[in-house]
Amino acid sequence: MGINIALDGPSGAGKSTIAKEVAKSLGYVYVDTGALYRSIGLYAVRSGKKTTSADEVVPLLDDIKLELKYIDGTQRVIMNGEDVSEEIRTPEISMAASNVSAIPEVREFLLSLQRNMAKKYNIVMDGRDIGTVIIPNAQVKIFMTASAEERANRRLKELVAKGQDVTYEEILRDINERDYNDSHRAAAPLKKADDAYELDTSSLDISGAVSAVLGIIDERLNALRPERGMAPAVNRFFFRFVRWIALVLLEIVMKVRYEDLDNIPKSGSYIIASNHHTVLDPVAIGVKMPNISAYMAKEDLFRHKIANLLKIFHAFPVKRGKGDRSALNTAIEYLDRGYNLTIFPEGTRSKDGKIGSFKSGVSFVASEANADVLPVGITKRKTKLGRTYLTVRFGKLIPYYKLKVNSLSSSELRHSRDIILNEIKGLTDE
Ligand code: C5P
Repeated sequence: MGINIALDGPSGAGKSTIAKEVAKSLGYVYVDTGALYRSIGLYAVRSGKKTTSADEVVPLLDDIKLELKYIDGTQRVIMNGEDVSEEIRTPEISMAASNVSAIPEVREFLLSLQRNMAKKYNIVMDGRDIGTVIIPNAQVKIFMTASAEERANRRLKELVAKGQDVTYEEILRDINERDYNDSHRAAAPLKKADDAYELDTSSLDISGAVSAVLGIIDERLNALRPERGMAPAVNRFFFRFVRWIALVLLEIVMKVRYEDLDNIPKSGSYIIASNHHTVLDPVAIGVKMPNISAYMAKEDLFRHKIANLLKIFHAFPVKRGKGDRSALNTAIEYLDRGYNLTIFPEGTRSKDGKIGSFKSGVSFVASEANADVLPVGITKRKTKLGRTYLTVRFGKLIPYYKLKVNSLSSSELRHSRDIILNEIKGLTDE
């Protein structure tokens, strides 16, 4: 299961607008389940059937094939090969959807389509029974409300902007009627899941509601992250001693400069991902860490005499090229044992100072271990006298759920990896 965010609530509470924005900001797929009920409503209306009659609607289900497609991140509903995404947005079809949605066979018909989406992707799914019936295991559940009057006002603006000829009274009546239908039907009535967070958006504008929702998600997902302590104390004594010597050498002798040290989390274990310029990089980063870090290092290094020294400092080899499962597992194990983990996703040092292409291992580990990533940008500078020195800049921690991949498909991994890459690029002076 991916990360599932269930957003339920009555019509017009702003769910779809907000869910869309939230999904975009997290890089998740937005699933508008109302569109599915609307499509069935549309089919029934087109077929001249009474949408309140189960006897008339149920036989139609055999003739309906629904698919959700995403074009430029926007959901399209395809009914029997036809894109009906626009046509389902009229008040007539809203009511038809509300009617057909009370029929248990219709709900059953749409169940697996919705559950499959939740299994395959990280999603923000909006509807009425998402947190109660469709994905009761969703990591985050939000129940969004707003007063009927406020919802009618919002819907009016939306429909008028689309050129539809409707009045406030008609819409308010519709909303009250749909609310009544949705919460009084026997099959999956609209109701807040016990573990859902209730958010009243009456006094919030869109951006206010989006940040409120993102705040709730952040809090819940952070609470679900595995509780990790720090590396064992015995090792920390030795680590502090070495760190002190290295720090003096680096800052005083080699003039390494540090920026935005406040971004370094003081506790817990996380991944540190950096671009790679010089052999000094691992040390330059390590000395500023409150925790001991393990290092993923290319296999070649372990053929030299320094192999033993590398091992003392918790470096472990990774085969380059193909995904090295055993190295990735070691990485996850280190995090689970409370160590930080430093990865240079380029796999090797950059020869020309430019950031090279990133391997996806860092995303794999972040996703599998539910570990946050601290991005670090290293820039090499030359003084007028021709001496080089390093600037090490720390970025803001990237929460694990922004990097989470489900299918481990290469495109998903690439997307996740690029989030890290872009952060690091922004921290260097290229
Ligand atoms: O969310 P939207 O207004 O597009 O939904 C149209 C109708 O579909 C709702 O009034 C509701 O009756 C029904 N619906 C539902 N369960 C969902 C989503 C929508 O019953 N998960």
